[in-house]
Amino acid sequence: MAYVVTDACAKDFVCVAECATAAIAPTVGDPVAGTVSQVFINPDECIDCGNCADICCQHAIFPLDDLPPEKAGFAQKNRAYFNA
Ligand code: SF4
Repeated sequence: MAYVVTDACAKDFVCVAECATAAIAPTVGDPVAGTVSQVFINPDECIDCGNCADICCQHAIFPLDDLPPEKAGFAQKNRAYFNA
């Protein structure tokens, strides 16, 4: 399992700093940061600690198993960012 960022993300990058495995991208200094509407979690790097979801004031991050049905597509969108 992994955590998943959805489109409620305000791209404040708070979660990026919170992740011990650097699973969340882009980082604030990444040139790509200005071209995407949200950050993404690499499901192969996420260790399911939940720290990012706890700190997200937008409530934009969910465990995969708790994704609201209307946000289900974001699991693939998060993975696809790292496979591009
Ligand atoms: S759940 Fe933990 S390991 Fe996974 S992206 Fe969030 S902070 Fe990183």
